[in-house]
Amino acid sequence: MEAIWVYQFRLIVIGDSTVGKSCLIRRFTEGRFAQVSDPTVGVDFFSRLVEIEPGKRIKLQIWDTAGQERFRSITRAYYRNSVGGLLLFDITNRRSFQNVHEWLEEAKVHVQPFQIVFVLVGHKCDLATQRQVSKEEAEKLAAAYRMKYIETSARDSINVEQAFTDLTRDIYELVRRGDIMMQEGWEGVKSGFVPNVVHSSEEAVKSGRRCLC
Ligand code: GDP
Ligand code: MG
Repeated sequence: MEAIWVYQFRLIVIGDSTVGKSCLIRRFTEGRFAQVSDPTVGVDFFSRLVEIEPGKRIKLQIWDTAGQERFRSITRAYYRNSVGGLLLFDITNRRSFQNVHEWLEEAKVHVQPFQIVFVLVGHKCDLATQRQVSKEEAEKLAAAYRMKYIETSARDSINVEQAFTDLTRDIYELVRRGDIMMQEGWEGVKSGFVPNVVHSSEEAVKSGRRCLC
């Protein structure tokens, strides 16, 4: 029987307050742009399936901050149980670009001993006339971090699918190669859900076996 999803990846979205994290997540998971998003409404996570190859689906569990980023009070658990993330800045807000480095350092410290795969995202690309960070500059920074760079707009639905799908494919490749392994007590990657099949995902995790695809 075909797997409903071969893996679940837990992702985070980080960056300064108001860069558009919640709007990006909602555009991706709900297909709409909520103009006003209340930073204090703490919806924990959103889910969506993505098909990375015909018939091969990955379930993404995407965690949003509940406004804690305003006070830099994101907890260790938020980072620690994630396998990947979008590192966001707002292309019309230079300060948010300058802070990318701090966000990355914070993530690195908290995620240990695990690793986390990031894509650098220049958001609100629909506001090109107010741009304060050039594409070239952002690409250079991403290259220095060995990350991909992509520009998105939740308002105009530009590259939203691409950003999440690229990240998912990169993680999938690392999992497939065994560079990222499932581990007990870690939520970053879980093995797939296959109905009516003997292996339980718990067994697969325990044995360190990769999925059931
Ligand atoms: P967060 O604090 O990073 O979660 O940011 P929000 O998602 O709450 O968005 C902050 C503000 O940016 C809101 O007023 C949104 O309407 C606006 N915003 C978010 N995404 C976009 C976008 O793609 N384009 C434009 N023009 N505005 C956006
Ligand atoms: Mg938010």
